[in-house]
Amino acid sequence: MRLSGSCHCGSVQFSVESGTYYPFNRCYCSICRKTTGAGGYAINLKADANSLDVEDKENVKKVYHAHIDGKASPAERHFCSKCGSHLWLWDPRWPDLLHPLAAAIDTDLPKTPETVHLMLGSKASWVDVPDGPDHKHFPEYPEHSIDEWHRLHGLKEGETE
Ligand SMILES: [Zn+2]
Ligand SMILES: [Zn+2]
Repeated sequence: MRLSGSCHCGSVQFSVESGTYYPFNRCYCSICRKTTGAGGYAINLKADANSLDVEDKENVKKVYHAHIDGKASPAERHFCSKCGSHLWLWDPRWPDLLHPLAAAIDTDLPKTPETVHLMLGSKASWVDVPDGPDHKHFPEYPEHSIDEWHRLHGLKEGETE
């Protein structure tokens, strides 16, 4: 499915091809929490970086490299330089992948049958995490990648038959 997204002020419009767009992965790490805000977590989708189409690229000048264990991470977090909306993450170590923030996507995403809560060790204490059979909790990284999770649930586009 082609996902369309934008920043809040509308200066950046983008679209990208994705077969793994269920917004199931809530990351509570401090980088996601502080750069994206939301409910104390961010939701990253997985898309095909080579299919990224950006209108007004000059408005995506803001790129942030978080420091992890004292070292700048090569991962690039891209923001609208006018309104500051967090748009996507791209990492030169995995150049074919793009992780758009679910919050920046305007395409109506499907409701996820299960929610994975990750990096709960870094969660802020005020954030309530839902419990129950449809919620999986992980102190750090979850057991499945975004790809594996979609495959496991029969939700990977093109592989659902
Ligand atoms: Zn903007
Ligand atoms: Zn995170």
